[in-house]
Amino acid sequence: MYVCHAEGVGALNVGSKAPFSGTGKRFRYADFAPANPVTCNDARSNLMSNALIEKPVVALSKEDEDDLLVAEAMIEQKKKLIGRECGECSLCCRLFPVPELNKPANIWCEHCQPGKGCTIYDRRPPICRGFACGWLLGHMSDKWFPKRAGMVIKAFHKVHGGQTQMTIVVDPRAPNKWREQPFLDDIRRLAHLGLSGEYDFDFQTVVRIGRHRYLILPHGEIDISNADDDSECLLVMA
Ligand code: SF4
Ligand code: SF4
Repeated sequence: MYVCHAEGVGALNVGSKAPFSGTGKRFRYADFAPANPVTCNDARSNLMSNALIEKPVVALSKEDEDDLLVAEAMIEQKKKLIGRECGECSLCCRLFPVPELNKPANIWCEHCQPGKGCTIYDRRPPICRGFACGWLLGHMSDKWFPKRAGMVIKAFHKVHGGQTQMTIVVDPRAPNKWREQPFLDDIRRLAHLGLSGEYDFDFQTVVRIGRHRYLILPHGEIDISNADDDSECLLVMA
């Protein structure tokens, strides 16, 4: 049974909707990137880079700078291995906030030339240097190319409660894109994988559209928009 404790939504028992009775299809992580199944090290490297960029940093310590250089090198290595580049996509430069630049979410960064790239690439903030979306890192299949999908995957990042989360950040200009196929089935499979114990570690799957957030379950979702932060939503499996 799954129990969600989220401020604003109370404790929910949605166990009857969970498909983990042992009779359902078992999904492998490779289902999400058939040509390039992710390894646990990939996930951990992304955890590291995302942990770094959670901090709104003005000046990096030597240790953080070293970690960031390692994260950047891992991203470049992974891109080469997977054979993916941002190309004409700049969507993360619109959807994500950049505290160092006082840039809110869901407007273009003033330094972005959409479709062309960053005009301050060599001196972009650490939050930008350490980020690569889940599609770029090969976690999702080609159909998830962010510019076309209208969604950016923030892969395997830690939320404040210490839990690991996959966040699908949806462009509010097309807020229902995630409910379309094949995206919805992929998102539900991701939720299944994160909760089933079949992967090396458990993770939550959350869809975020502006101020709206949904905790995704294999056969449904819970609106957690009123929770103060993601750490208040605790999923336990029993
Ligand atoms: S969303 Fe992904 S593919 Fe698009 S610009 Fe950002 S990192 Fe590159
Ligand atoms: S500084 Fe550059 S990389 Fe960072 S959000 Fe702005 S345009 Fe994108």
